[in-house]
Amino acid sequence: MKNMRRVLFVLLAFVLMTVPALAGNVKNIIWVIGDGMGPEAIGFFTEGVRYANLPDYPEKTSNLERMLNGGTWGLFFNNTYDTLVTDSAAAATQMATGQLSRPGVIGEDYNGAAAKTLLEMAREKGMSVGVVTDVYVTDATPAAFTSHTQNRRQKMEIARQMIDFGPEVIMGGGLKYFSTGENKKLLKQAKKKGYHIATNKKELAKIKSGKVLGLFAEQALPMTVEMYMHPQIPTLTEQTQKAVEILSQNPNGFILMVEAGKIDWAAHGNDAGAWFKEMQNLDTLLGYVLPYADKTPDTLVYLNADHDTGLGAFTYRHLGQQKVMEKTAQGEVLYDGNVDYASFKTYHQFLLQKRSLYNLKEELKKLSPEKRTPALLQEQLSIAMGYPVDISAFKNPADLDGLFKQLDEERGLVWATPSHSSLPLLSVAYGEDAGEFSGLYHNTDILPRMKAALGW
Ligand SMILES: [Zn+2]
Repeated sequence: MKNMRRVLFVLLAFVLMTVPALAGNVKNIIWVIGDGMGPEAIGFFTEGVRYANLPDYPEKTSNLERMLNGGTWGLFFNNTYDTLVTDSAAAATQMATGQLSRPGVIGEDYNGAAAKTLLEMAREKGMSVGVVTDVYVTDATPAAFTSHTQNRRQKMEIARQMIDFGPEVIMGGGLKYFSTGENKKLLKQAKKKGYHIATNKKELAKIKSGKVLGLFAEQALPMTVEMYMHPQIPTLTEQTQKAVEILSQNPNGFILMVEAGKIDWAAHGNDAGAWFKEMQNLDTLLGYVLPYADKTPDTLVYLNADHDTGLGAFTYRHLGQQKVMEKTAQGEVLYDGNVDYASFKTYHQFLLQKRSLYNLKEELKKLSPEKRTPALLQEQLSIAMGYPVDISAFKNPADLDGLFKQLDEERGLVWATPSHSSLPLLSVAYGEDAGEFSGLYHNTDILPRMKAALGW
């Protein structure tokens, strides 16, 4: 009898050891969305940090790399109900609701019916919820988690619905949608609903509990490459720290969606330096979020993107005629290819960049064509890039699109598009129940997997 019991006990222990832990243990989710962050953006950033000897990364490793090495990867599609390529509205709607939708639509399925979002479900379970972004809070991604409209352009309506839904944390840009026109009184109404309002770093620091509505710019927050000009604006990481401080006071747990929205903007502008700095911004955020998950039981960090933007990468270019170097004994002809294979030094140039090329272009466009002399263009470009740029060999530099294209050619950079692509996207889950997010899936599968992780 004793032996029998011992055998049973050993068997039970063996079964417990070999059966994988069941999902459903997650209490807190921090969902980081790199808007427009295709897999090439992840490669472009992590490769530079590892191999380009950058002064910003003496240890040659990024938080993103740490997450990739310590987490579970997945690859997922993002097509909508009837289009191969998506926009941020449909993508965020499909991710937040698990329903197929259409480009431009916020929080509604493809038939136009309101679809319940993850944050609305979490609210019903008594959890705290929040959205943080570095664009404006009424933009597609935060909007699709908190509101329901036919069209992403209905920003005033989105702002009203957001306050009505009342997440514990709303932070980012977009003050004008809460304080002008038909929404002139929305800030007052938000206060009545219990929101503390902050419009800069100082005001945000004073808020310790309750609900937070942080609106740190009229529209979007500045590009990371230009943030140094705006020390009063909290960074995406600072906003996220405050959001977690507030949300984690709920014993039932929280779900926070953080959008790094400018990766998309930099890629739309085909601006590699700004793109790199937006990835740095995301990496700094992970530098806070991952240790938080390490020390906070039952916390899941899920990082993904809504779509790819730009399809940018390094390339090689032929500099001229190939030269025959020698013939081997076997008669093979060896060429000096005269090929420039793109250089690690380009990464160092990214770190020097001081302006967004999109903003520079907009400024230069305002000048009359006669004023856009090669000398002025070279001077302005050099100031923006942070190193002396020589455009003397550029053809027709006054054509600004051509000017930036030639600059990229010289740096060995190529972009396939100024818009979005259908590239499948990488996801990385880290922490509790990260294993739920492996394999090849679709962005409508994220919500069911989140529910499984939460034990709903
Ligand atoms: Zn976009």
